[in-house]
Amino acid sequence: MNNKASYKVELEKQLKTALQENEFKLFYQPKVDLGTGKIKGVEALIRWFHKEKGIIHPIDFIPIAEETDLILPIGEWVIRTACEQIKAWQEAGIPSMIMAVNLSARQLYQPNLVENIRKILMDTQIDPKHLEIELTESMMMDVDHVLPILQQLKQIGIKISLDDFGKGYSSLYFLKEFPIDKIKIDRSFVQKCTKDAKNATIVKTIIAMTHQLNIEVIAEGIETKEQLIFLQQNLCNRGQGFLFSKPLPPEELVEIFHEIEQVIKREGIEREISN
Ligand code: C2E
Ligand code: MG
Ligand code: MG
Ligand code: MG
Repeated sequence: MNNKASYKVELEKQLKTALQENEFKLFYQPKVDLGTGKIKGVEALIRWFHKEKGIIHPIDFIPIAEETDLILPIGEWVIRTACEQIKAWQEAGIPSMIMAVNLSARQLYQPNLVENIRKILMDTQIDPKHLEIELTESMMMDVDHVLPILQQLKQIGIKISLDDFGKGYSSLYFLKEFPIDKIKIDRSFVQKCTKDAKNATIVKTIIAMTHQLNIEVIAEGIETKEQLIFLQQNLCNRGQGFLFSKPLPPEELVEIFHEIEQVIKREGIEREISN
């Protein structure tokens, strides 16, 4: 217990210096159109380049950052850096795509969240339609508080995406009540869709439902050719996963843009399912 507490204090201290000394970096994972293989967007995923420990993944520091409120400056840094990146890509002539950032529950209780985001968009001169916010169902429990915030973000023109769909409890309720543009089918369903009939039915049903509701759908964690073909056959528009690319630093990602199109040509079935 004592050990755990002192570890937390130490980590908190190190997180503070990490911000000051620029030890965070955003990696980007492409979101691919499963019809054409074109990259439609990217998801920004934070990495910590620790001086002694090397790369630390978000699972090992985001929870502490949330407990200590350091997630607020870190979260703001993420949004600003992601917007600067999309600007840099636009200026380099890369066709415009949507940048998705993950939001933490704590950020929804920051009184000036919407204003901060608006300011970042203005400073970086990014059209709000190029920004997407990913939230999980567990963050939406407090409907009275969260709904107005999402409505404001939506009004600005920012897209709202429901992450890890299916993993939580009351998904359908959130779909009905919140202004959601996209859902991301949780990796655990995608990875079993070719192995387990029940799972396959769930994935098919989620995809069919999104078409009926006019919501975009994206499958997370596609790792195999079989999963890709299953999703294409069931008209899933978008996918993300190691089959196409793991999250990469921006300079490496631009180099593989064209290769991803080849993955669809090589592994997938030729079919126009993009919208
Ligand atoms: P997430 O938003 O659901 O992100 C997807 C995670 O799945 C990423 O892990 C990604 O690297 C991983 N992934 C993608 N494709 C595959 C695949 O084909 N197979 C497998 N096994 N994994 C795949 P990562 O980067 O470690 O991030 C984990 C979680 O940490 C994220 O889950 C998100 O909840 C959180 N996170 C990441 N960056 C941020 C951030 O900037 N702010 C906040 N608040 N949370 C973040
Ligand atoms: Mg996400
Ligand atoms: Mg996810
Ligand atoms: Mg997750």
